Amino acid sequence: MTTFKNNKPFRDKTVLEILDKYKDLWALSHVSAVSGWDLETYMPEQGASARGMALGRISTIYQKIFLDSEFVSLIHKAGCQNGLTDAERGVVRILAHSLKFYEKVPPKFLEDFSLLTSQATVVWREAKAKNDSKLFEPYLTKIFGMNKELAEYLTYKDSPYDALLDQFEKGLTAAEVESFFNEVREPLKVLLTKITSSKKYLKVNQLENAKYDKVKMADLNAKVLKYLWPEFGKNFRLDISTHPFTTSFASSDTRITTWYHDTDFGRSLLAVIHEFGHALYDLQCDKGLDMTPVGGGSSLVIHESQSRFWENFVGRSEGFIKKFLPDMQKVVGKNITSSEVYSYFNKVAPGNLRVEADEVTYHFHIMLRFEIEKGIIEGALKVKDIPEIWNAKMKEYLGIIPKTDSEGALQDIHWSMGSVGYFPTYSLGTFLGGQWEDKVAKSGTKSYKDIEKMLQKFVHRYGSIYTLEKLLTKNKMKFDSSVNLKYLEEKYLRIYNL
Ligand code: MG
Repeated sequence: MTTFKNNKPFRDKTVLEILDKYKDLWALSHVSAVSGWDLETYMPEQGASARGMALGRISTIYQKIFLDSEFVSLIHKAGCQNGLTDAERGVVRILAHSLKFYEKVPPKFLEDFSLLTSQATVVWREAKAKNDSKLFEPYLTKIFGMNKELAEYLTYKDSPYDALLDQFEKGLTAAEVESFFNEVREPLKVLLTKITSSKKYLKVNQLENAKYDKVKMADLNAKVLKYLWPEFGKNFRLDISTHPFTTSFASSDTRITTWYHDTDFGRSLLAVIHEFGHALYDLQCDKGLDMTPVGGGSSLVIHESQSRFWENFVGRSEGFIKKFLPDMQKVVGKNITSSEVYSYFNKVAPGNLRVEADEVTYHFHIMLRFEIEKGIIEGALKVKDIPEIWNAKMKEYLGIIPKTDSEGALQDIHWSMGSVGYFPTYSLGTFLGGQWEDKVAKSGTKSYKDIEKMLQKFVHRYGSIYTLEKLLTKNKMKFDSSVNLKYLEEKYLRIYNL
């Protein structure tokens, strides 16, 4: 697939100079990523403080090299140049965004923030284990306080929350997120009420509680990946971590992880397929973008649209379940039918945990977090009231109240890591995933290999050259929440005989 004229994405002299200097930064982020991956997978527990120190030092070195006056003036120079190719403009856009961050945020603030969050994740783990939100409260107060400060450094037009969202999805605003949730809130509520009052509604599916064989489960995960990506093992691997994630060091070295529990095999399998969707973005990026700021995806909404596409439209589909049914039977050690697995993979029921939520209830978990984050950043809510507000919103949206804060406001790691403004990208990405599915379905493409090629053509090959909006325009699309809403309504009305 040729993406660029003469296979050369970069020709401009200034940009070529930038890319040459950028290789040092790329090398640092490469080793940081390997180190971060090891920390989550194989590092012995006591390695944590040395690793934290090393990673902290590397990020300081990274910043110093980035702010080298020659590099900075090259970025400014390229920014004023006309006639750049799309790829070149992408490089300048991404670097200018990072530069703005480094120029506006004092190094002392970044150092304090990194120290605070490394302590906070430890305290958060303890607070979650002990179900003690008071223990975490002073840290959370500081984290939100520093995020407010960060928003002031970064500057914004309407809401300080805009500046925080912009870190995860360039240009995304609170008003846009709000109008998206206003579009989907009622239809999802109506759908959920229909489902929970249907005769076919089950709070628990018996397959969720079926014990499974972890070795056979790992075999199935590997088999699925090998089927979807024959080069699995060569440029792509799977490991285990406490929470599934994807990381990519190069388009020729991408890693994903999954988790294993005693029961609920779908959790392990669907995590694998979800992360595969993220990995595929990096694996199928144009090789000409390797070692540049635009290699691989950087928009979190686009990235999540890829992972959710594979999870929801492939992993939860009848065809996929039928294909791997014999292996699933081995995993749980009994004769299960594909329709049993289908209703298990597509069960809808309000629950306390975001990561276990289904396609319908998931977005209420995000709305709740968005409303709390925005309220605190804009000064309307207080951190000490989070557990109470949390429970009230859970009651309002899902009709349940978590018994403990561990299953409530303490469940996610994001805040302890300092990330405020991240959550909305999950819902937006999921909805965008529905639009890719619509495009794939309309094209009549059926085989997974052909679907991969389509996604490569539409999205992956461009890496981060385009912003979300530009990428959609390029594909003659506009973000449209009604597409995924329609899919959810049709699918679940059918499943629940409504
Ligand atoms: Mg994801």
